[in-house]
This record gives sequence, structure tokens and C-alpha cells, in this order.
Amino acid sequence: MAQESEIKLSFYASGYCEAHARVVDPIHGKGKKKFYAVWAFLQIPDVGNVLFDTGYSEEFNAATRRFPNRFYRWATPITLNLKHTAKNILEEQGIDSKEIDYVIVSHFHADHISGLRDFPNAKFICSESAYRQVQKISGLKAVSKGIIHQLIPSDFDKRVIFIEEFADHIIVNKYGITEFSFFGLKNLKLLLLPGHAKGMLGFHFRSAEKNILFATDAFWDYTCFRNAILPSKVVKLFFDFWDDFVATNKNLKNMEDSEEGITILFTHCPKTLTYISNEI
Ligand SMILES: [Zn+2]
Repeated sequence: MAQESEIKLSFYASGYCEAHARVVDPIHGKGKKKFYAVWAFLQIPDVGNVLFDTGYSEEFNAATRRFPNRFYRWATPITLNLKHTAKNILEEQGIDSKEIDYVIVSHFHADHISGLRDFPNAKFICSESAYRQVQKISGLKAVSKGIIHQLIPSDFDKRVIFIEEFADHIIVNKYGITEFSFFGLKNLKLLLLPGHAKGMLGFHFRSAEKNILFATDAFWDYTCFRNAILPSKVVKLFFDFWDDFVATNKNLKNMEDSEEGITILFTHCPKTLTYISNEI
């Protein structure tokens, strides 16, 4: 069993897209807002090099060149310094992209999975419900739900591990959040955070120094989350299920209020940028 005290966790950002701030905060939002694509890198003894999401990569530009995927680029134009792709950030640190053993996919929106093709030896971990939904939709409907199938490697089916089958244990915690234990670890768990996307995952990591709940896109902005300012209703068009989104946030709030020392981070929140290790 891995020594969890030795797990190393770092966050990075690979590019950003821009959207109207009032989508995030209909009360105070003004002008444009940058949504940085933050991902995590976990080095787990006896398990290997594990990515949690990948952010944007060059692949996004290639995959959105033609219609209908081009609509995605129009709706949320992206900026990416190629030095900041997950592959290049890791290589800069002496970790070859072939040495990534697992990529955990929080959900299949393009800002989270554009780098999947850069890690040829990785197995993919995701929720089965997330992947089944992605398989079911195509064309404009897929684009409207944030899905660009070209970003998913053609051998994904052979490399995927569904957390529902792979987990050592599955429990619903006292806050109503489903937790998956995996790799025999006690202090790193995957959490099911549905609503924004079907079967969306986050993780909870605890060590002597850290107690971090990475809640991915369960909300976009921490201040809005705490002040119960819901995003504009326009997002219902691409969210999976609004009622789940609201329930997930209630559960996360209860968890944060009850668990001393826990820090909740969201993928696209400006607060999360203070946790990343690369310059942006
Ligand atoms: Zn996102």
C-alpha cells in the first residue's frame, strides 16, 4: 500500500478561455472573465504518475477547426501558450509524457481533456455515467454540451477504467457525497459531483500539510459559491442537470462548514491560481 504521506500534489494551468463575467456572477459580473484550465499532478508511490484532467492543448485548435466544433471556439475563445500544455510543463520537470500512468478525467468538457492524446501509455479513469453520456451524443448536440469527440483518443475504450468498478470501496459520506476509495489509499478519494456534467468527479486529498477538496466545475467561483450566487440560467443549456448542480453545492457547503481545515478549490476560480506552480 502506498505511503500517503509521500503523495505529492501540484496544480498547474494550461491555457484559458474567456466568457462574460455575468455568466458566473449575474449580480456583480462585469466585462470578460478568464477561465483558466487548471489540472493536478499526483505522484503516488507504488501507483505512479497520475494526472487529474489536462487543460487545453494544441489538439483543441485542431479539433475545433471545422463546424460544428468551430462553434465551441466561437463561444469560448481560448488562449494557450504552448509552453504551458500539460505535456510541456511535465517535460520541463523531467517527466516524459510516456511516463504518465493514469489520467483521471473529471468530465469530458474540452477544457479538461484536450491533452488526453499527449499521454500514450496512460490508462484513463472516469465515471461510467460520464462516458456513456458522451458516447450517446454527437454533432451539434455534443458541441452544445461541451463535448468534442476528436479530443478523446481512438483507443479510449481499451484504456478506460470505470471508477464504479475499479473502486476499493464506494460510500455516501455524511454530507451526501459519493466517495470512491482507490489504489488502496486512505487519504486520496474521488468524489462524485454531478450537475455541471453527468458523473463529474473531484478529489479530496489529505496529508499532514494539505486538506484540499478539488471540486472541479461544481462551481466556477469560490466567492459566489459561499454567497450562494448561482450562475446565469443560460448555463442550463449545457449543464447536465440543474437540480443536481444545486444539490452538489449544498453538500459541498455542508462539508466545508463541518470539516475543519478543508480548502475547496474549483478548476476555474481565480483563488485556485494562487495554488498553481507554473507561471501563466
Ligand atoms: Zn471546465
